[in-house]
Amino acid sequence: MTSPEPAAGPKAAAGPKAAAGLRAAGPPEAAGRPAAGRPAAGGRAEVRRWHAELAWLGRGDVRAGVLIEASGGVFRAVTPDVPPDAVPTGTERRPGLTLPGLANAHSHAFHRALRGITEAGEGTFWTWRERMYQVAGRLSPDSYLDLARAVYAEMALAGVTCVGEFHYLHHAPGGTPYADPNAMGRALIQAAAEAGLRITLLDTCYLTGGLAPDGTAVPLSPVQRRFTDGDAGRWADRVTALGPDEHGLLAPHARAGVAIHSVRAVPPDQMHPVAEWSHHSGAPLHAHLSEQPAENEACLAAYGATPTRVLDAAGALGPRSTMVHATHLTRHDIELLGGSRTCVCLCPTTEAFLADGIGPAGALAAAGSPLTVGSDSHAVIDLLDEARRVELDERLASGRRGRFGAAALAEAATVAGHTCLGWPQAGEIVPGALADLVTVRLDTPRLAGAAAGTALESVIFAGTAADVTDVVAGGRDVVRHGRHLLVPDVSAALTQALGPLLA
Ligand SMILES: [Zn+2]
Repeated sequence: MTSPEPAAGPKAAAGPKAAAGLRAAGPPEAAGRPAAGRPAAGGRAEVRRWHAELAWLGRGDVRAGVLIEASGGVFRAVTPDVPPDAVPTGTERRPGLTLPGLANAHSHAFHRALRGITEAGEGTFWTWRERMYQVAGRLSPDSYLDLARAVYAEMALAGVTCVGEFHYLHHAPGGTPYADPNAMGRALIQAAAEAGLRITLLDTCYLTGGLAPDGTAVPLSPVQRRFTDGDAGRWADRVTALGPDEHGLLAPHARAGVAIHSVRAVPPDQMHPVAEWSHHSGAPLHAHLSEQPAENEACLAAYGATPTRVLDAAGALGPRSTMVHATHLTRHDIELLGGSRTCVCLCPTTEAFLADGIGPAGALAAAGSPLTVGSDSHAVIDLLDEARRVELDERLASGRRGRFGAAALAEAATVAGHTCLGWPQAGEIVPGALADLVTVRLDTPRLAGAAAGTALESVIFAGTAADVTDVVAGGRDVVRHGRHLLVPDVSAALTQALGPLLA
């Protein structure tokens, strides 16, 4: 399929200005409702205090007796080695190991509908994709709000405080824009607020139906017409209409990001406007990369270059960019990604469920790429599982143990993930960072007997989402004692949202 040239490339003049002052960005809050710890109009910010039995403060060691203080949604003081009888009145006790908030750097919320049902019988990535398209064809802004709210609530129960939603389900069935062409994206932003998470809406450019093995472009299928704006110029106009402020924020809990779906869905001459939008606005840029050998072969046939080289030539690599999967790479691809400090988001459970393969995580990290993780298709939602599989896959591929230690894996799931989503002020328990806390009990059947000196190793290598008991996002309680405070019955919310999609 021949795509028209972009009308005028990126709309720099109308786009948001470079991100600045992000540390001042607010915590998540539902529309019209101040978050916990935020001052009422004219009031003083309430100070909140937690006393963590053990806390991993991000990048450093696990410390005992950590007094953590926050106000206005931001950590103000972090003091280890405080005895329990020395904490101020009103301090909340946090038994177990407390971590910074987890970032789910790659999500397609609607894929949650396929959990389990695609596991019957045999298949490949490509047969799974057909089922995924059936679900995509049934969603409206209202039903997507219900589904995404429930899925994000499930994430919050698993300790996720920020999600990167790789969003390409833009228009009504057949491709007709809704009255608000961003109705679906706004539903996702609202869903995140109502589930207590921050979100980076990675608005995805998606133009062609794929690449045939001989490299020719495949026309969009009827379902895929919902995904396209026609060309990158019109994609940019719609994204700009989302209306990010000068910091790239769409709401206190939401920021704008952009994505190139893949070399399968965006021709090289249409990639540059997406990269330009990112460069002008300071927005994160994500793309699916080399998830399947067939993608590489078709790309070589079409453009005489690997997907990594095509994206590099389009200006889509760099420290603000994140390549998702990066499973089937050449040595030169790894050098291009690492040398440009391009982040790589591994999605090990999805890659296993879809039989994608094992990516070169160790080589990418050695070359200079920060690593992050995402639950992508949501075959399971458990960021601790994603993180440990980075190391376990490396062991299976290399025959050696210990390439990635617990701290490196925890960094991938926390500060690196938040940074690749455009929230570099989150993911560490340090003064000035957004007040996100995830507490994992160490007295559950899975973690009982964990030693203080290796608590992080126990949690990363044996913990699960079910061991997360308390979650604070931006200073506000989202999960208490294993119960979501905003979506009281997450299971019922999921059942209700999924039923009509699967009927
Ligand atoms: Zn994906």
